[in-house]
Amino acid sequence: MSLEQLRELERAYVVPTYVRNAVEFVRGEGVLLWDSEGNEYLDFLAGISVLNVGHCHPRVVAAVREQVGRLTHTSNLYYTEPAMRLAKALSESSLRGKVFFVNSGAEANEAALKLARRAKPGGEVVVLHDAFHGRTFGALSATPQEAKQAPFAPLVPGFVAVPKQPDALAQAVGPQTAAVLLEPIQGEGGVLPLSEELLSSARELCDRHGAALIFDEVQTGMGRTGTLWAYEQTGVVPDALTTAKALGGGLPIGALVTGPRLADVFRAGDHGSTFAGGPLVCAAALEALSICSDPQLLERVAALGERFMHALSELPFVTAVRGRGLLVGAECAAGVSAVELARRALHEQRLVINATGPTSLRLEPPLIVTEAQIDEAVERLRRLVP
Ligand SMILES: *Cc1c(COP(=O)(O)O)cnc(C)c1O
Repeated sequence: MSLEQLRELERAYVVPTYVRNAVEFVRGEGVLLWDSEGNEYLDFLAGISVLNVGHCHPRVVAAVREQVGRLTHTSNLYYTEPAMRLAKALSESSLRGKVFFVNSGAEANEAALKLARRAKPGGEVVVLHDAFHGRTFGALSATPQEAKQAPFAPLVPGFVAVPKQPDALAQAVGPQTAAVLLEPIQGEGGVLPLSEELLSSARELCDRHGAALIFDEVQTGMGRTGTLWAYEQTGVVPDALTTAKALGGGLPIGALVTGPRLADVFRAGDHGSTFAGGPLVCAAALEALSICSDPQLLERVAALGERFMHALSELPFVTAVRGRGLLVGAECAAGVSAVELARRALHEQRLVINATGPTSLRLEPPLIVTEAQIDEAVERLRRLVP
C-alpha cells in the first residue's frame, strides 16, 4: 500500500485526533528506523520516550517471542509468574511498597488519584501549571492546560492548579489535601525541570498535612534522566510514583508503585483492569526494566546527555537547553518555528524529533545511543539552519 493510500484510509476511517507526518515506518533496530521507501532515520524521539532500550531490543524480542506462544492473557482472577516477578522488581528498584498494574500512563495516574482519594476521602489534589498527566477524565483534570481541558468541561472536581513556586504551593496545600501530583521534569510542557526548592517544599507540605506526594515518572522514569527514576536525583522520595511509556520496552504497560505507607490502602474490589499485568507485557517489561537498571548504561546516559546538551547549546539557532540525561529540550530563537524545524528534520535530514511548543524542541533518543549518533544528530540539526 502506498503512503497516499494510507492517508486516504486515515481520512475516511480514522478519527482525526492526530496530525501525522507523511512517513510510514516499517522497521526499527536500536536507534534506527526505516520507512517504506527504504530510507534510514536516526530516531531521537524513541516513540515519545517509549523505546528507551531501542527498537526491537534482542532481549525484549526473545522474551516476547517465548511468552506469546505460551500464554498471553488470563485476567487478574489468576496468577502468572511474570506479573508477580515484575511487581517485585519494580518495588525493589524504587519505593519498596506495592504495585498496581495498568496499560498506559493516563491509567497509572488514574490509579494514583484513586489511591490518594482512598487514603484521604474527599481530599483535594494539587497539581502544577504546565503539567501533563494524560487524556482520560481524571488525568485531564490534573492537566491544567486550557486548550486540552476546555472542550470537555465539566471536569472532575477536586483539583487545584498552582504556579510552580513554593509559596503558591504552601497556600494551596492544607489539611484538605489528599495529594500533590507532579512530574519531576515536565516532559510535554517542554522539558521543564522543577526546582529542588519546589520539590522539597512539596515533600514538607505533604508530610505536614498528611497528603501523598506522587511523582508522575511516566516520561522521566526507566533511566531516561540517568538514574532509573528521576526522583533519585532530587533528594526527595515520593509516597508513590507512576510509570508507563518505556516500561514495556515498546509494549503497552504502566504501573503505580507505592511506598510502604500507601501499600495497603486499596482493598479488594477498589480498582481493576482486565488487561493489566498480563504475562506478555510483563515478560517484556521484566527485560526492559533489567536493561534500564544497568548501572553502566545509566552512567552513560548521564555522560551522553551532557555531551548532547553542550553540543546543542552551540547551535546558532538554539537559545537555551534544558533537561537531564537524555531527556532534552532545546529552545529556538524567536522566528524559528520548532514545529517547522521538526518537520524539516524528518523529511530533509531523516532525523526524528518533535516540538513541544512553538519554539521548543524535544529530543529523547533511545538510551543505547552512541556518541557518534549524538554528534551526527547535532550535525543534521546544524545543516537545517545554515
Ligand atoms: C505520556 C505521559 C502521560 C500519559 O501517558 P499515556 O500512556 O499517553 O496515557 C502521563 N504523564 C506523563 C508525564 C507523560 O509524559
